[in-house]
Parts: sequence; C-alpha cells; structure tokens
Amino acid sequence: MCNNRKLKRIKHNRIKCRKCGDIIESKKVHDFVTCSCQSCFVDGGRYYVRVGAFDMKDVIVLTEYEEDND
Ligand SMILES: [Zn+2]
Repeated sequence: MCNNRKLKRIKHNRIKCRKCGDIIESKKVHDFVTCSCQSCFVDGGRYYVRVGAFDMKDVIVLTEYEEDND
C-alpha cells in the first residue's frame, strides 16, 4: 500500500501576543500557556494547535511545522 498522506508534524507550537509582546510556546499536550497580560493562550504542544484570545487580532501565530518527506 502506498500512503501519500502528508503528515504535518508540529515543530514549535507558539504564538506572539501583540499586547504584551510575549512569545509563548506550548511544549506538551495539555501544556496550557497564557501570556503575561492574559489576552491569549496556546495549548496542545506538538500534538495539536489550540490558540485562543479575547481578540484574535492581538495574536500572531508562529507555529512551525516539519514536513515529512518519506
Ligand atoms: Zn499578552
């Protein structure tokens, strides 16, 4: 069987808050990290990306993926 599905693995699950300038990173599943002004959070580590904020315009998503080229 040929599996052509390209899996995107998360390398760094992180975001930047425009309000306080914090760059926060979730490193593990259920590693729920909030920035210092509490405007936004990131969660999921390298398994899933969950980002939340009062206003998503305050968030810069910096998530990096590794491409699986097998
Ligand atoms: Zn903030």
